[in-house]
Amino acid sequence: MGGSGPGAAAPRAPFRAGGIVPFSTTDWPGRLAAVVFAQGCPWRCGYCHNPHLIPFRGDDERDWPSVLAWLATRKGLLEAVVFSGGEPTAQPGLVDALRDARELGFLTGLHTAGIYPRGLPELLPLLDWVGLDVKAPAAEYRQVTGVAGSGMGAFVALALLQQSGVPFEVRTTVHFDLTPPDALERLAHELADAGVREWILQPFRAQGCADEALNAAAPQGARIGEALLARLREVVPEAVVRA
Ligand code: SF4
Repeated sequence: MGGSGPGAAAPRAPFRAGGIVPFSTTDWPGRLAAVVFAQGCPWRCGYCHNPHLIPFRGDDERDWPSVLAWLATRKGLLEAVVFSGGEPTAQPGLVDALRDARELGFLTGLHTAGIYPRGLPELLPLLDWVGLDVKAPAAEYRQVTGVAGSGMGAFVALALLQQSGVPFEVRTTVHFDLTPPDALERLAHELADAGVREWILQPFRAQGCADEALNAAAPQGARIGEALLARLREVVPEAVVRA
């Protein structure tokens, strides 16, 4: 007999992890968390520091049941599981993976670039916190992501998060070759227009980045000076640099 009769469980979509960090205090600020990295992302950000996670199939994949079995051994030792990437929302299996993590008693966090905002309404009730990457002014996303028309999703995701009541933070990685100061100022106005008052600026770090030109341009990382930060704070009052 097949399993398609009344009451049969719907088949689960797989969730493919490209790696794990067993213990982190920085991926969800203030929480002790394991980080599960999703394999696969449709964008090609020059500054990506996990380029091995961009292909949708990876050499070091771990299937979700093995990750879940490991998480079960962490109960009582960690507060939370953060799904990062890659782009976790690219995988339909994220919904069940979040449910599983919660059933083990963990809080659930998500790092997303807002690439698939249409999936967020199903995911948000299963999330306790979201870190949303907003990469550039909406019309200038291609400069960062390498993908035409990629600029709208993050702002739709931002609106959904604001409506949801789920705690979240908005953060932007800064490499001045991709988001020069004038682009950051334009982005500040777009965020302010969207009602954002707190904004995390994350200086580019060369660690993990595969783009030699970007690494050479900022070998010690991006330095966001006080004058620029002051201009951004005139627009988004609680803009901060998180090194
Ligand atoms: S959206 Fe994130 S994971 Fe995808 S390419 Fe950009 S930085 Fe890398």
